[in-house]
Amino acid sequence: MIYDCHLHTCFSGDSDTPVRQQVQRAITLGMEEMCITDHHDYDSCFCEDNFELDIPAYLPALRQIQEEYKGSIRINIGIELGLQNHIAEYLRQFSENYGSSFDYVIGSSHFVDRTDPYYPEYWESHGEKEGLEKFFQVSLERVQKLYWAFDSYGHLDYVVRYAPHGEQYYSYKEYIQWIDPLLKVLIQHGKALECNTGAFKYGMSQPNPCTDILKRYHELGGELITVGSDAHTPEYIGSGFDRCREMLLACGFRYYTVFRGRKACMIPL
Ligand SMILES: [Zn+2]
Ligand SMILES: [Zn+2]
Repeated sequence: MIYDCHLHTCFSGDSDTPVRQQVQRAITLGMEEMCITDHHDYDSCFCEDNFELDIPAYLPALRQIQEEYKGSIRINIGIELGLQNHIAEYLRQFSENYGSSFDYVIGSSHFVDRTDPYYPEYWESHGEKEGLEKFFQVSLERVQKLYWAFDSYGHLDYVVRYAPHGEQYYSYKEYIQWIDPLLKVLIQHGKALECNTGAFKYGMSQPNPCTDILKRYHELGGELITVGSDAHTPEYIGSGFDRCREMLLACGFRYYTVFRGRKACMIPL
């Protein structure tokens, strides 16, 4: 089974799952490797949950658990870093101070103008089409400005999950003016694109990003695909991975990527 490289534990503000429970589940599924990637969204005080990670507590706790399970599974230490352009200086400092302490850094866009599209208010004030346009526009601006801060770009079109009509009217082609340049920046700087299967639990037929975007990344020369379930509870670890594997193969990929010590390792699909 594909190794899960995007999952959360109780170190994230929106999960109560103990780290060991996530590790046990991955072992039960037969994974030989996994990566824990708890949320760190600096300047997210407008959210109900606290998405800022206590790094000085997180790193030693995970190192201890890594050691504890050494014979059973390789646990990589990752983080899901929230990208916002106005915190570029903070992210620069963060990378300098902690960059080498992690195996893997996911860069994700969760907010737009300090609001969270998870809530209906975002769509009420922007409308569906404009809400999506705005999200892809800021995503591109962030990747252009902050590509050095991460290894893989997380769940590119996940905001579609929260749009009033979900994926019903969504087509990548309508947002190509932002998505294509974003993919090109990733490829130019040797950055991976994440295929996130969390979409399936929202009843979506496609992962995030959708297969049209995965295909386009491949067509443009992109080779680095990371895979993650975004599980916040054990039952979702590895969920949808068989389907995801078939989809990646159909898009032309033969390998997926895991990061160890911030270095890309290719694993056959
Ligand atoms: Zn995320
Ligand atoms: Zn996540």
